[in-house]
Amino acid sequence: MAAARPAVPTRDTLDIYAVDVEGGKATLVVSPSGESLLIDTGNIGDAARRDAGRIMAAASDAGVTRIDHLVTTHWHRDHIGAMALLTRQLPILEFIDHGVNVQPDEVVDAFLLHTYPSLYRASRHSVAKAGDAVSVAGLDVRIVTSAGRAIDSALTGRGTVNPICSGADRPAVDHTENFQSIGIHIAFGRFRLLDLGDLTTDRELDLMCPVNRIGTVDLFMVSHHGQASSNSKVFVHAIEPRVAIMNNGTRKGGQPEVMNVIHSSPGLEDLWQLHFSLLSGQEYTAPGLFIANSTDEAQPTMPIDPMAAPPRGTGPPPPAHEGTAHWIKVSARRDGSFSVTGRNGFAKS
Ligand SMILES: [Zn+2]
Repeated sequence: MAAARPAVPTRDTLDIYAVDVEGGKATLVVSPSGESLLIDTGNIGDAARRDAGRIMAAASDAGVTRIDHLVTTHWHRDHIGAMALLTRQLPILEFIDHGVNVQPDEVVDAFLLHTYPSLYRASRHSVAKAGDAVSVAGLDVRIVTSAGRAIDSALTGRGTVNPICSGADRPAVDHTENFQSIGIHIAFGRFRLLDLGDLTTDRELDLMCPVNRIGTVDLFMVSHHGQASSNSKVFVHAIEPRVAIMNNGTRKGGQPEVMNVIHSSPGLEDLWQLHFSLLSGQEYTAPGLFIANSTDEAQPTMPIDPMAAPPRGTGPPPPAHEGTAHWIKVSARRDGSFSVTGRNGFAKS
């Protein structure tokens, strides 16, 4: 995975934009050297144009005129949607994925057969394995999971025994694409970021038990939009994030089980969310200052009680948000300090 000449002027900070793609994923990482890494490209179908626009807005804010490395964590519709549209607006120099799709889906399979190869034809295409490095000047970027496998030794030293493992139930094995997710660990000086895509609890256990192979992190990009099939206590409490950012939707992620785990995580200072979630209710949500986005129609009240998620595709549609969207931006410094900025410029260091 080749190093590339920076496209934008160098800066002092590592900048990270969690882009609001309505319960999908798109995270832009811009290194101090100006090199950029985009993790996932939002939703497919009608939402793709909206999500491409929101990713482009973040790229523009960062001064990025090309993507040096695009990592697609896994082949789900909420992670690949705006890729084709983006390539028409921003050159992408390298496409990184975990390999073949293990979960048949006619829309995704058609994309992989007919569209994806044409997108990377003139660029570089890499299939990532756990343990690989992605060469980004100024950062240490490591792939910690890919294609159902995790790194088999600690990132630094021998790792520490994770005391929460004893008594942890063995979760059910996931056979979807979530389990295949590429997980990324980024170090910049003393600052540490962990992003595991939609990795599920069974794979979290493999990374964390009996030895915690990740260590502790400063910033945790909450897995799987804040859903309970990811984000086990044995994982979250062992990495001891100082700040967590959840890329949830208005009715996707943020269920009480996950909020309990995150709010009680040792050393956590703040949880930021891209949206309020009806599944949290006021009972479990983060304070409004830490929530980046509202909905197109102002909600007169936020229900106190968390709503039970209706089975997929049933129940009333979730509150829509097609209008102005806000990202959550993190600027990290080499000494490990960092600031987080949300809606209306509210920021905390
Ligand atoms: Zn997802």
